[in-house]
Parts: sequence; C-alpha cells; structure tokens
Amino acid sequence: MGYLVGQVQIVSKRVFPCSMVGDDTSSENRDVVDKNKEITLKRLVSSRTVTKEDTIRAYQVVPRELFVPEKLRTDAYVDTPLPIGEGQTISAIHMCLIYLELLDLKEGLKVLEVGGGSGYHAALVAEVVSPTGKPLSGHVFTIERIPALVEFAKTNLERAGYSDRVTVLEGDGTLGHPVEAPFDRIMVAAAAPDIPPSLIDQLKPEGIMLIPVGRQQFWQELTVVTKDTEGNAKQRRKMSVAFVPLIGKEGWSP
Ligand code: SAM
Repeated sequence: MGYLVGQVQIVSKRVFPCSMVGDDTSSENRDVVDKNKEITLKRLVSSRTVTKEDTIRAYQVVPRELFVPEKLRTDAYVDTPLPIGEGQTISAIHMCLIYLELLDLKEGLKVLEVGGGSGYHAALVAEVVSPTGKPLSGHVFTIERIPALVEFAKTNLERAGYSDRVTVLEGDGTLGHPVEAPFDRIMVAAAAPDIPPSLIDQLKPEGIMLIPVGRQQFWQELTVVTKDTEGNAKQRRKMSVAFVPLIGKEGWSP
C-alpha cells in the first residue's frame, strides 16, 4: 500500500533480508534503516527539495545501504556525506536528488557521470533512465579515477542489480568518454576550477550538464550548462555547494 506526501504517491518500502543491512542482522537495525529512509524522504518532499515522482521512486527503489561501507549501513539514510574510503565520500542524499531533478531525466537517455565513488548516484540516475522491471533503455557511464573505488562501485552496483544499466570505467573523467559521446546528460560529482572543454564538447545539443565550479575546497557554485539545438552552450549558477576536488588533466592537478 502507498500513502501520500504532498501530491506524490509514496509506494510501499522495499523489503531486504536483514543480512543485507550488514554484520548486525537484527530486525531493529532493519527498522532503523527503513525509518530513516522514510523520515529523510518526508523532509525532502515537504521542503520541496524534491518534487518529481521519478526522483522519489528512484530514491525508494535504490538501496543506499548497499553503497556504503558495511559498518555505516545503519546510518545509510542520514542525509549527510559518508566516507567510502580513499579520502572520498558518497554525496548527501539531498544533493544526489537535487542533481536528479535538475538534470530533467527521462527514460532512454545516455548519461555520463564523472566521479563514480560508491556507484549510488549512478544507480539513482539509472533507475530513472532505465527503470527496474522494464526493457533496458537508457544507460549510465560512470568514470572514477581511484582504482579501489572503481571496484567498490562495481561490486555495489552488481549487488544492487544495476550492472546491466551502469558501466563503471576507470580513468580521468575530466576528459569524458569520447567513445560513447555525445551524451544527453553529464553530471560531475567533484569540484572543478573551470568547466572542462572536453565535457562541453561531449554534451549533445539540447543536453544538460551539472558541475560544481569554484575553489578546490569549500565552496563552489553548482553550474548548469545547457546547449541549444545549434550546439551553443550557456551556463547559469544554481546554488552554493561543497564537493571534493575534480583531479585530472582538465581539473585540479594531483
Ligand atoms: N557520485 C559518487 C557516489 O554516488 O558515491 C560520489 C562522488 S565523490 C563526491 C567524488 C568522486 O570523484 C571521488 O570518488 C573522486 O575519486 C572522484 N574523482 C575526482 N576527480 C576525478 C576525475 N578526474 N575522474 C574521475 N573521478 C574523479
């Protein structure tokens, strides 16, 4: 059964075996995870941070607890960045969902993510561009520069059931992924000094790119880049954000 928050139907929560919460298999832990998931969603919907049905559905379907280190699984739905190793973080839930809303995602789109991290954000996007239970349509390519995180993301995506809709690549994402370009959408999950020209080139006409631009440490401006039908790019600043640095040839030096 579902219930209503604002105008949006909240479908019943997905049930996982207790063992999927981590080492501690108590049903209280499962309850904490489910309760936090629900509370966070209600807060994001009532504050109108999240308004789109597709975004809400993706949040409900993708199990974030499978994308954080085992010892943090009970905290998976606390709306804050969490450490994933190698000095990197999985972004806060509200930030992932704001990206989904601003990207104006639709089924069938080809999306490039730069900064794969845990794979969670890529799975959320995949759930919108190629929803679970329907024939495969859209696809997400995610590039991560740290080999240990490439493996982490692959394992998480496989376990959560997204490896058919998300391809994880190792490399410098500032250069994009020319073999699969152009992309309908590009999302960059790390902070750049400037917008990498390679990524602008690899965005389709009528495409949308989101990228934090600014200082290497706090703060940056989340920048929305759009291309018109002729391929002319325009950019506008959306909000202040704090991301880890984008390190690469067209980003910050290592
Ligand atoms: N989207 C991720 C998730 O869902 O867990 C979180 C991304 S984390 C905030 C930023 C990631 O960008 C880090 O894992 C970092 O290693 C990666 N990164 C930084 N520079 C990069 C580059 N040039 N190419 C690819 N990945 C990069």
